[in-house]
Amino acid sequence: MDFETTFIAQVITVIGFAVGLSIVVASGRYPRHIRNSLRAYSYGKFLLGTGFLIAGLRGGAAPDLLVPLANGLGIAGLTMNYTSVRHLQNRPVRLLIPAAAGLAVALACFLLLLAGGGISCIRILTSFATFAVLLVIAFEVLVRYEGRGIPHYVTGLLSATLAMVYLVRMGAGLVQGEMPAAYMIDDRVERVTFQLSMLGTVIGAINYVLMASDEFNRELAKLAHTDGLTGSLNRRRLFELGEIEFRRARRHGRDLTVLVLDIDRFKSINDRAGHPFGDRVIQAVADCCAGQIRREDTVGRIGGEEFAILLPETGLEAGRLLAERLRSAIERQLAPLGAEGGVTVTCSIGGVSLTREHSEFSDLMAQSDSALYDAKHAGRNQVRFFPPLALTPALHA
Ligand code: GH3
Ligand code: MG
Ligand code: MG
Repeated sequence: MDFETTFIAQVITVIGFAVGLSIVVASGRYPRHIRNSLRAYSYGKFLLGTGFLIAGLRGGAAPDLLVPLANGLGIAGLTMNYTSVRHLQNRPVRLLIPAAAGLAVALACFLLLLAGGGISCIRILTSFATFAVLLVIAFEVLVRYEGRGIPHYVTGLLSATLAMVYLVRMGAGLVQGEMPAAYMIDDRVERVTFQLSMLGTVIGAINYVLMASDEFNRELAKLAHTDGLTGSLNRRRLFELGEIEFRRARRHGRDLTVLVLDIDRFKSINDRAGHPFGDRVIQAVADCCAGQIRREDTVGRIGGEEFAILLPETGLEAGRLLAERLRSAIERQLAPLGAEGGVTVTCSIGGVSLTREHSEFSDLMAQSDSALYDAKHAGRNQVRFFPPLALTPALHA
């Protein structure tokens, strides 16, 4: 029976190294935060593997310096799983945390042995540490992780279940009291804990890779939706969201206003201050738009120096007010940058609010474009809405 527990420890070692090696090799091709997460996970597996290697090789020999080392490495490796989950969410933690956790456990084991504590004391201590780390991982994945999917729930539930297994192991240690190391290897609780840990290592690794792939897909979608210069949505995404907002507003009889904004005489800004300066103006206008809208609103860059803004739950009057506020904010906030380039930066805005007559989102875009055209013709740096005011009485007649 001696064979079983040590054999399982060796299997965990092999799995740990194989998984760590595969993931570290693959990590180079991923965006930075995912790469950091994959590497943290791999290093964690190397540490855990080494810990189990030492534990497995010892095969229950008398406690010595290897016990603190094996347990310290194991806990540091496990804590690296937490680090990797944090990296995946772009909320990194310092490497100091797994190092400190490992060192603390190693030191505590060492002191326990020095004070004459037996292997059971070590088992109680390390079970508690493992329980605590697993619980923190479960909390991170099940509660704090934004955009959870099936692999997140599996990982979280697995961590929570394993945490309970280690709690039972701790309880068993407390109940059983001190026993010879050779007996412990034969112990039922010990065997079940090791078997479940092995299962957890395999299932955990698969689900972690799925979590990382989920994150990568999210990153790709973000890139596909984002305009590279301004960080606002690109034309395609703005139109997709526009269609969604349009259908929602129509279905529920809600308000929706669309604005189209175009920087005035931008060609001459480029000509006088240079193309790179023109790019800075576009970025500053995008920032100004983002600063003026609510969380539910959406800004997208739909052309060179043209933006569209979707304002759900916003009717004609509120839309006009916001458009005017935005126009004057751009005039005011871009004055210093304009002065730097020896130009004046203003914009014209065209808008329209949803009515029963609109049957497609493209109707709203076409009409706000037409209102923008009116604003340009009226002398620029102004807001116009569709239908033009002169036509309004006739329409309602
Ligand atoms: P108007 O007041 O009528 O809008 O005049 P305008 O000069 O702004 O006219 P128009 O909208 O036709 O000009 C857009 C110019 O924007 C043309 C193009 O050279 C420039 N442009 C388009 N994309 C970019 C870009 O990414 N960066 C820079 N710097 N310029 C761009
Ligand atoms: Mg334009
Ligand atoms: Mg323009």
